[in-house]
Formats: sequence, C-alpha cells, structure tokens
Amino acid sequence: AETRLSLDAAALAPLLQRFLPGGAVGSFVAGEILPGGGERLTLVNPADGLPLLDYADACATVVQAAMDAARPAQRAWWGMSAAARGRALWEVARLVRAEAEALARIETLSAGKPIRDTRGEVAKVAEMFEYYAGWADKLHGDVIPVPSSHLNYTRHEPLGTVVQITPWNAPLFTAGWQVAPALCAGNAVVLKPSELTPLTSLALAGLCHRAEGIPRGLVSVLAGSGPGTGAAAVAHPETRLVVFVGSAEAGARIAAEAARNIVPSVLELGGKSANIVFADADLDRAILGAQAAVFGGAGQSCVAGSRLLVQRAVHGTVVERLAHAAARIPFGVPADPATQIGPINNRRQLERIAGMVRAAADAGARLATGGGCPEALRGTGGFYYAPTILDGVAPEAPIAREEVFGPVLAVLPFDTEEEAVALANATPYGLAGAVWTQDVGRAHRVAAAVRAGTFWVNSYKTINVASPFGGFGRSGFGRSSGREALAAYTQTKSVWVETAASPAVAFGYVG
Ligand code: NAD
Repeated sequence: AETRLSLDAAALAPLLQRFLPGGAVGSFVAGEILPGGGERLTLVNPADGLPLLDYADACATVVQAAMDAARPAQRAWWGMSAAARGRALWEVARLVRAEAEALARIETLSAGKPIRDTRGEVAKVAEMFEYYAGWADKLHGDVIPVPSSHLNYTRHEPLGTVVQITPWNAPLFTAGWQVAPALCAGNAVVLKPSELTPLTSLALAGLCHRAEGIPRGLVSVLAGSGPGTGAAAVAHPETRLVVFVGSAEAGARIAAEAARNIVPSVLELGGKSANIVFADADLDRAILGAQAAVFGGAGQSCVAGSRLLVQRAVHGTVVERLAHAAARIPFGVPADPATQIGPINNRRQLERIAGMVRAAADAGARLATGGGCPEALRGTGGFYYAPTILDGVAPEAPIAREEVFGPVLAVLPFDTEEEAVALANATPYGLAGAVWTQDVGRAHRVAAAVRAGTFWVNSYKTINVASPFGGFGRSGFGRSSGREALAAYTQTKSVWVETAASPAVAFGYVG
C-alpha cells in the first residue's frame, strides 16, 4: 500500500509553482497574480492547525481588473467557432489530467480532504470539462413553426460575465462544476472561491490560461473574503449572472444584492437530507449507504444524509450496526492514502459541530458513537471530529432540522410510509434524499413524495456531470450540471424574419 504523503507548508510552494507565476498567491487575472489591498487572510492546514500561507483580501481594484479582462475575452470567446470552444475546453480537461496529482495534493493540504477523495474529485473535474466540451457545438436554438409569412428562430446566447461564488467543502470540484458549463455557453467567469480554500481554484485558472484556445482573461479567480471581495463582484455593473454555492443565509443576501441590478442568480444551498430505511430493505447495503451518506467528506457535503429515518422494526439493529461500523471507518490524517475520513475544514466549523452535538445530547438525544476528537488524534493539532450518531432525536429538535455540515447523524424512528414522508418533508430544505426498500412501488411513491432536487433509491450520493443538480425550497433554485445548467448560463433570443408581406407589420401579432 502507498505510504502517507509528506504534505506541509514546505511541500506547498513547489506545488503552487506548477500553476501560478512564481508560485505567488493573490488573485489570478489575465495570466498574472494581482496582490490584494485588503486585510491579510491566513490559510491553515486542517490536518495540524498550522498556518500554510497568508495573502491579502482582493478588494474593489482587483475586482475591477478581473471585470476589465473578462469583457474583451468573452467577446473573443463567443466570436470563435463553437467547435473551437469545444476543443479549448477539452484542452483544459487534458491539462487537469496531466496535473491531477499536484491538484489533489494542494486540495488535501488546504481543504483537509483525504487524498483518496481529492484524487477522485480531480478526475471528475476533468470529466466536467470533457462533458461540456461535447456540448459546445450542440447548443443550438430551434426554428419555431409560426405562420408562413415569417421565419422565427431562437439563439442561445451567453450572458457575458458570470460571477461564481463557492464554499470550502469541495473547492476544485465545485469550481469545475460551475466554470465548465459557463464557458461552454460562451461566458467569461469571475470566480470567488472561499477565502479558506482558494488555492485549487487559482490553479484551475492557471490551467485555463495555459490551455490553447482560451482567450487571456476569460477565467479570473479572486482571492478574498465574502463580504469584501465577493460582495464587490456581485454588485459590479458588468456582472450578468451570479451563481452562488454556499449557505442559505449568504445566498439570500447575495441574490437580493444581484436583484438590485436586475441580475439573475442560481443558488445551490445547504440541506438536511433524509435517508429513509424501510424494514424490507437490504440492510447490509442500507447501512453501508448510510455511512457514505453522512460520513463521507466528514459530513461536509451539501447532500449529506444527515437524518436517518428508520422503520421501527429495524431501528435498534440499524443503529447498533451503524455505530459499530462508524467507529471502524479509517479516520485520520488526510495525507494517508488509507484515510477515508479526515478533519473538519476549519476550527470555527469544528466548534460549531461540537456545540450542536452537545446541545442535542443536553436535550436528551443518546450518543450511540463519536461525539468528540478521538484520543489518538488529539495531539495532532488538527480539526478532527469522530463520526457521531445521535439516536432518540425528537423531530422538532434543532439537530433534526438544522444543517450541521459535519459527521453527525440524527436518527429518527417511524412506523408508516406516510409518517416517513412527512418527516422527510419536515424541514425547509429540499436538496436530496434517499429510500432503501425492496418494494418497487414504494420506492417510486416515496421518490415522488419527498420534496428534493435529487433522490436516490437504494443508493446515496451518486451524482454525475450529465445529470441536473439543484435544490427545492430553502436549498436553492436553478440547476447546475447536465444540459439544464446551460439554460442558466444562456439567454434566449427570438429572431423574426418576414418572408412574405404580412398584416403583422401593422398589427404586430402573427396569428
Ligand atoms: P458561506 O455561505 O459562508 O460562504 C460561501 C461563499 O460565499 C464563500 O466564498 C464566502 O466567502 C462567500 N460569501 C459569504 N458572504 C458573502 C457576501 N455577503 N457576498 C458575497 N460573497 C459572500 O458557506 P461556507 O461556510 O463556505 O460553506 C458551507 C455551506 O455551503 C453549507 O451550508 C453547505 O450546505 C453549502 N453548500 C452547498 C452546496 C450545494 O451545491 N447545494 C455545495 C456545497 C456547499
């Protein structure tokens, strides 16, 4: 087996040099790193709590530079043939594959994600660019059957400059998820990743810049805070669309700010997804699935199956088996290729998780496993929190309603299908959900009844760039990925041509 990688601040510098001029960290605009003018922000290694590097918040001048670079780049990009745009996107994918290991290591170092996960995510990012490379020359309008005096057709045109704001839990994956469809549709991108994890987004901008066929300035990355740099990008008069991935609170503020300028938004927000296990399920599969659902990525996943609804007949068995299994998942240092669960991304989030678990236990929930940092990892200085299961959770308790964004499972028993569906729908969120049952009819009834943008039957967390992804309710609106993402990233123009003299010239409506 591969041994633990040596990943620390000293390992980071040569990795960054592969992507960024001089290995410098700032904002990436038109092939250069621009230093910020705001307060200093420090990146910390979640595995040991030690600082990795610091940089200055970008602020308004850098935002302006990115916008200035985007405008001509977008015109050049849209002026190219669709096939040439596709080839350029394919070239980005090739460069991502060529630099896959370096990208995975940077992500593991700065986001704390296990190297086995980041290697997988980098490969997915390449697939995203390949998938949208294929769409570039297949994105066309329709000829609409109007009366024969006219020809009417549609064109799907880009919006212009798109601002994308992303969180810290899967930085490169989320960047690829959004940048690839935006470029495919002919837009320029100004990406503002989380101030806690900007490095792999900067590296991706470096690769886009290097890719043959991508105009200089087409993809900029702003290194800075949300309220400073992010808000300035949202409010900028050149911004034509805001795509936001993050918390509902920030999303609501950002969408309101965009709306002031009549700029649309796509919001991909959090969730409190229900994973429903019926007594007739294949319990071995369901238990494996429940672990992956909530403990994968240390629970720092928007689609985490953080509520386990279990039919009462198997409730005791499922909780006992899950607790046993959870305590045995390879948990530890993210640079170890055997690790399946790594640390929490940052200290603030670690404290939030610990506080929510304490409050739930104080309110009467039973801790079936976990509930703190295991002894073996205490001396590391890292932000570790063991996989945790809370049983006997009341449906109205905060732990059953609020997103934890950590490796914490709240278990709620139910008796009937109706009760399971009602419980699943008893949160304002609607991002994802799953059902485990061998009854085909029930599987489809529950899939139809649960309010969620993604639903799995006898599976959890499978996603693919070809499939649309997004939320219902407080989990957001608009769809990323798949063909549907291209609808958000384009605007439709309807073109009318008169082919024979018609009264419509006088009256306007051709009918
Ligand atoms: P966050 O909302 O605090 O921050 C997300 C991003 O928004 C960051 O880049 C931040 O700098 C920026 N931001 C914050 N305030 C801003 C403002 N006023 N103006 C402009 N930008 C601003 O979220 P987070 O803590 O980074 O991430 C965790 C959250 O993200 C969770 O709620 C999680 O569910 C959600 N999430 C959702 C999805 C999804 O696809 N639905 C995916 C991943 C994470």
